[in-house]
Amino acid sequence: MKNRKLLMIPGPIEFTPEVMRAMAMPTTSHVAPAFVECMGEAIERTREVFLSPGGQPFIVAGSGTMAMDMAACNVIEPGDTALVVNTGYFSDRFGVILERYGARVTHVKTPAIGDAPSLDEVEAEIKKGDYKVLTVTHVDTSTAVLTDIKGLAGLCRKYGILSIVDGVCSVAGEELRQGEWGVDIVLTACQKAVGVPPGLALLVASPKAIEVFKNRRTPVGSYYSDWANWLPIMESYENRKAAYFGTQAVNLVWALNVSLEQILAEGMDTRFARHRLMSKAFKAAMTALGLKQIPVSEGKAANTLSAPYFPEGITGSVLPLIAQAGVILAGGLHAEIREKYFRVGHMGVVSASDILATVGAIEAGLAKAGYKFEHGEGLAAAQAVLLQ
Ligand SMILES: *Cc1c(COP(=O)(O)O)cnc(C)c1O
Repeated sequence: MKNRKLLMIPGPIEFTPEVMRAMAMPTTSHVAPAFVECMGEAIERTREVFLSPGGQPFIVAGSGTMAMDMAACNVIEPGDTALVVNTGYFSDRFGVILERYGARVTHVKTPAIGDAPSLDEVEAEIKKGDYKVLTVTHVDTSTAVLTDIKGLAGLCRKYGILSIVDGVCSVAGEELRQGEWGVDIVLTACQKAVGVPPGLALLVASPKAIEVFKNRRTPVGSYYSDWANWLPIMESYENRKAAYFGTQAVNLVWALNVSLEQILAEGMDTRFARHRLMSKAFKAAMTALGLKQIPVSEGKAANTLSAPYFPEGITGSVLPLIAQAGVILAGGLHAEIREKYFRVGHMGVVSASDILATVGAIEAGLAKAGYKFEHGEGLAAAQAVLLQ
């Protein structure tokens, strides 16, 4: 019997065998010619995956939070104003990070959990203040709420505000066109839809973001994340010359380069469409089983993850039963409703069979927990979407 469970959480996710093989290659020097070529390619491919032809990629050892830290510390100076379009847990975190670097932070949020502020609400707030920076979480990992990045980036351009998108749960899964939409900074971590074991922070900055950084009056408050240290390194590797500031996470970069190649081979549009289909199939299954979901409408629901409420009479103790049936899911994260829901990541290499296996395991867990439903109804609903 296979002693292997399917990992369907919002990161780390399932990785391809090719990515895992790259992790196991003999580690080279970070200045070895083969690694320089790999790092150079990874930088170029990052630009393509972010759909940001004019952007400057940064690939640095660290988690997604480090990428948020890098974005904030390089463009924020003490006294700057920042508007956080707040949809939950990671928006709160961005507010704290911005404040740590001296920003005066205002949050715009809706009272309802599962909702996101409308463009009109955000614009009304923008008109009240004189904001330098706006941050927004593309997919809120605590609620599976999706925000309108195209619309918000448009507002930022209209009012001359620097836009920063936390794309940790979205980049390479959710449609996000940094160049075309004019987003100034997009950041992610490699363990989510990018499909590499945890450890790399990825960030792409627009020419305007780099200009804002270069025109700073005060030094960057973080030594490790300072673009003054990393920009020459990224430029050098892209020109296929070795450079040192901090040792690159060599094997992770090997793995990243493989994953980026696989992502681009699929094609970004095909990949976005596949994520939409997998999400639709999974969400249809939850609805068929009688489970409500946190996002208030389809338009505000992410395609990289789902956040269903437990049905009446069922608690988090169903998650170990689902795990026994072979699929690992995540519990709640949003403080106010933590015990009432669970989270299912369906991003990266997720396939139709992963969705069916996950729905099957959820049905098995619910049945064992005593929930009354028509067995197979979730599977049938998912299959109906997948067969369309
Ligand atoms: C996971 C996540 C983060 C944090 O990333 P870490 O790698 O855990 O530091 C930040 N923002 C969002 C939207 C996330 O999903």
